[in-house]
Amino acid sequence: MTHPNDPSLRSFIAVAPTSDFPIQNLPYGVFSTPADPAPRVGVAIGDFILDLAALEAAGLLDAGAPVFAKPAINDFMALGPQAWTQVRRRISQLLRRDHPELRDNAALRQRALVARKDARLHLPLAVAGFTDFYSSKEHASNVGAMFRDKSNPLLPNWLHIPIGYNGRASTVVVSGTPVRRPCGQLKPPTAETPVFAPSRRLDFELEMGVVIGQGSRLGERLTEAQAEDMIFGFTLLNDWSARDVQQWEYVPLGPFQAKAFATTISPWIVTREALESFRVAGPRQDPEPLPYLRQSGRNNYDMTLDVSLRSAQMDAPQRICRTNFKYMYWSSVQQLVHHASSGCAMNVGDLLGSGTISGPERDQRGSMLELSWSGAEPLPLASGESRSFLEDGDTLSITGWCQGEGYRIGFGECEGTIQPAT
Ligand code: CA
Repeated sequence: MTHPNDPSLRSFIAVAPTSDFPIQNLPYGVFSTPADPAPRVGVAIGDFILDLAALEAAGLLDAGAPVFAKPAINDFMALGPQAWTQVRRRISQLLRRDHPELRDNAALRQRALVARKDARLHLPLAVAGFTDFYSSKEHASNVGAMFRDKSNPLLPNWLHIPIGYNGRASTVVVSGTPVRRPCGQLKPPTAETPVFAPSRRLDFELEMGVVIGQGSRLGERLTEAQAEDMIFGFTLLNDWSARDVQQWEYVPLGPFQAKAFATTISPWIVTREALESFRVAGPRQDPEPLPYLRQSGRNNYDMTLDVSLRSAQMDAPQRICRTNFKYMYWSSVQQLVHHASSGCAMNVGDLLGSGTISGPERDQRGSMLELSWSGAEPLPLASGESRSFLEDGDTLSITGWCQGEGYRIGFGECEGTIQPAT
């Protein structure tokens, strides 16, 4: 059987070359429809969603256990990498142009193919834990140069440890969920004492989220190969940040309320398998990491990432950043190996943020903090406005894709609009 990643594969469903969702992708999400409001698992194909619960009920798709008539992909992920591969192969077969089972079954097609525009997309996974890393050398250097020391921006541990902190799983929301401007303790450098007020330096952070599909035992460390096997897929992630809250609170334990109010992810989880053709080596790591963190595989991905901003006055979004996931210094595999290195147990449904993804160029900076250089160089908008940080009514959107020959593996959209503080 032709491999699901084969660029020559075509579906009986027409898919435009610029669509995020060709037959080579098959990302998982959770959706509902007005006719059937029960959230269930589906995969995106062109402008449609293939309802896996309907296929399962019809006896056409068997993962080994009933896992698709569920409001999250966790039960499916828990079945493990062999089931992921087998189900992906079967879905690919069912959607192929030259395969009749679904193509020629009009009644089933009617039930199992839902127009994406008619569906509501839900948070695709029950997030067990959320950990956020800080693994872009360019981002860490920019922030270090702004707030500490221009000539020596990286802290001494940065080149040895994938730096991270434990964030909040409870506030991970799906694209389209409004984001309320948080209130918090602010103490501008010139003020004597802090006040409790709406954040004035609200920011986004362009990141990828890694979805962990297998757990590890308490006390167990992971090898590179074990960590790789536990990664189910990737999603776009916006780690909304209140910079003024962060600046006052982060000493000495790191970010807390500045990051706790919302984290947005895209509704589709693109599997690691679908991204296989786009693997690249990461930047050379110097000094060489400690033995437990060394990697032999090409664990980065050549993935274009765009950020656009639309203020309430603008008719169309304006691109403010285009960068690439391949620039990350520490790979997702290294992050996961490090996460378990103390014996920390990982769970099905854990979400790891890559850290803000910035590239070497000015328009590759993945946050307003960097784009406006902490407000010193406000960003001009097409409407004649300018932005140092996000204003109420601004809509921030992240998109991303890997470009193949005549097709792209995309993620949909990771979007949120800022609501005024209450
Ligand atoms: Ca972050």
